[in-house]
Amino acid sequence: MNIILLGPPGAGKGTQARRLVEGRGMTQLSTGDMLREARTSGTEMGRKVAEVMDRGELVTDEIVIGLIEEKLTQASGGGFIFDGFPRTLAQADALSQLLDRTGQGLHAVIEMRVDDGALVARITGRYTCGNCGEVYHDQTRPTKVEGVCDVCGSTDLKRRADDNEESLRQRLMEYYKKTSPLIGYYYALGLLRPIDGLAEVDAVSAGIAAVLDDA
Ligand code: AMP
Repeated sequence: MNIILLGPPGAGKGTQARRLVEGRGMTQLSTGDMLREARTSGTEMGRKVAEVMDRGELVTDEIVIGLIEEKLTQASGGGFIFDGFPRTLAQADALSQLLDRTGQGLHAVIEMRVDDGALVARITGRYTCGNCGEVYHDQTRPTKVEGVCDVCGSTDLKRRADDNEESLRQRLMEYYKKTSPLIGYYYALGLLRPIDGLAEVDAVSAGIAAVLDDA
């Protein structure tokens, strides 16, 4: 089963995707993670990508579609979770063509609904483990021992360069202008499944599980 997690920055897409990977053996395809890897490559392309990301703008469709295309040709037993992709109508069209070409389908688009006020607090307190990817938050979910990941014990805890208020404002603007039209697009295709992204993490996971079991 292949699904999209759709929602503004800070909606909890990454956290829920990680749970689906662990619980259902699905494969997470996060274009944000792929781009963060590309920006450390030391190439000219990596440098340009870093600049665009830090401003909170979208990277070109061509680059992200290329990244996804590469991954879609590798098989995934449990199905793919598209996390942070597509973010434009052009990307949505490209995804549909890529899935057709590789003989796969799209089964649900989970829209994680949250309000903007909650996003600022969520994003500005966020940090992740550089080793295993576990997500933490200064107020709502700090590590049990300061500076040490609860899951893998790594001390490599990181904050994203674009997780600041100014960049978030731009990322939200990009979301409303370029990504939110996808809500109508997938609604028209009968694939849209809205859930309350402001609920407790476990309740959101349960909502997603119910959608997947029904799809
Ligand atoms: P994320 O980790 O999904 O919040 O993405 C972080 C940043 O990477 C975004 O603010 C964009 O600059 C870039 N990015 C990630 N996915 C895409 C995409 N599908 N299209 C364009 N830019 C993207």
